[in-house]
Order: sequence, then C-alpha cells, then structure tokens
Amino acid sequence: MVRIVLLGPPGAGKGTQAKQLAKRLGIPHLSTGDLLREAVRAKTPLGLEADDYMRAGRLVPDDLVLRILRERLARPDVGPGFILDGYPRNVAQANELARISPVDRVISFDIPEGVLVERLTMRRSCPACGTVYNLSTRPPQTAGVCDNDQTALLQRSDDTAEAVRTRLGVYRAETAPLLEHFRRLGLLAPIDATGTPEQVAERLRWALESRS
Ligand code: AMP
Repeated sequence: MVRIVLLGPPGAGKGTQAKQLAKRLGIPHLSTGDLLREAVRAKTPLGLEADDYMRAGRLVPDDLVLRILRERLARPDVGPGFILDGYPRNVAQANELARISPVDRVISFDIPEGVLVERLTMRRSCPACGTVYNLSTRPPQTAGVCDNDQTALLQRSDDTAEAVRTRLGVYRAETAPLLEHFRRLGLLAPIDATGTPEQVAERLRWALESRS
C-alpha cells in the first residue's frame, strides 16, 4: 500500500509522470483536475459551478473539490493506494486530506517558472486516449491529430497565456507554501523536473525507492 502525492506547479509534468507511475505500481492516478474536467464535460451541477473558476485559472472552491475527491477515494480500486495529482492545492486542503487519508510520500517537482509558460501554451492533448503532446518538443506525427487514434487534438481552455499567468500566481501564493508544510512533516522528496519525461521518470523512481 502506497499513497503518493505529486506536488508542483502547472506544467511541471505531474500528470505525465502520474500516468506512467500508476501503470508501473498498479494503483490509480487521481487527478482532481481530470475529475473536475469530466464533471464540466458531463455538465453536472458541480461541473457547471466549477467551470468559470477553471477557465480563469483560479482554484475551484475547496468544498466542491473535496466532494469530488471523497467520491473518488471511496471507490474500491483505491485499496492498494493512489497517486494524487493536483490535490492538495492549499493548506486547508492539506488539512482536509489529513482527515481523510494518511499520505506516505510527497514528491515535489522542481522546475524554473520560465519553462512552464512555454510547456503549457504549447500543450495539446487527445480527448480520446489522454496522450499529451507538446507542439515544439513532442509534436504529433500529423499536425493536429493523435498518433494513437487520429482523434483531433484539443487545447485546454486554461492553457491560454492569460489563464496560465493566473495559475502560476495561484501556485506561488497558495500551493508553494505546502512544500514547507510537508517538509516539516518529513514527507517531502523533491526531484528535478527539468529535462525529458524519461529523465524525470528515472528521478521519480529513485526518489520513491530511496525512501522505502
Ligand atoms: P490541473 O489539471 O491540476 O492543472 O487543474 C486544472 C484546474 O482545475 C485548476 O486550475 C483549478 O481551477 C481546478 N483544480 C484542480 N485541482 C484543484 C484543487 N485541488 N483545488 C482547487 N481547484 C482545483
């Protein structure tokens, strides 16, 4: 049983790493961003309420996110553990999480902010299989369509320059203080998140193994 939290700014590669790690460890990848986007697509009351905050790059109110996370954590596949990506995002959420479930490791993704704007605005993803591309560093073979299933690629509504600026500001003000919070609890393992996804995966594996 291992319960892992991935902490880092938007565009640091948490989602990419979480997907691979989830496969390798056989535990689910829980992304509150993905759960919220699903709710927005399905036009549930919660999704409709979250939509404006997400488009603007602001945090969705804690009670809504907590509700969606609790539901997900109640599903049986979470038994052997989980990789939490995008939660907690502020100190109040960290306290809520502590009430719901213990955490074994918090991996933080260290990356200079300059790299993030480029990564986020160049990001496109496949709505069918979830593969993430980068127009400059990892473009699809045919422009605009997914290599795996030829579905038209989409840009997230919050990967625009303006929303990205807001998201980075929110990260600095609300989420970055959690680094110190988890460091004090003895849970924090920082990794260098620059370079290729393969390089980061290697550092992540090392960080997890060296503390077990
Ligand atoms: P992400 O996919 O993690 O980048 O999240 C996309 C957006 O979903 C964020 O910019 C927020 O608007 C919202 N969101 C995701 N997770 C949280 C959270 N834990 N608390 C508040 N809002 C969140």
